Amino acid sequence: MIKWERPVRKCSGCKLNLGERCAVFPSPREKWRHGMCPGYNNEEMIKKYQEELRKHPPKKEKEHRKEIAKSRHTVEHQQGKTEKINIRPRR
Ligand code: SF4
Repeated sequence: MIKWERPVRKCSGCKLNLGERCAVFPSPREKWRHGMCPGYNNEEMIKKYQEELRKHPPKKEKEHRKEIAKSRHTVEHQQGKTEKINIRPRR
């Protein structure tokens, strides 16, 4: 496992900050160690990342599972007030 994988506080506002990780660098903390990160809202890097996303879009099943996990992390769901969601995605 890579140590310090999560973006640091200084990464807030950067378009490459994905919350759990940086879209470009494996260790954001290292990038900020000696001054400003070279990737902070770097247009070139953002374009490259978006291009990469277009080439390899996230899988439909994975997105569906994420959606379900998010819906189950709500108070309504914990109290049994929501409808059951079909786990299998429709194709
Ligand atoms: S590019 Fe730099 S500033 Fe942006 S999220 Fe990654 S490490 Fe943080």
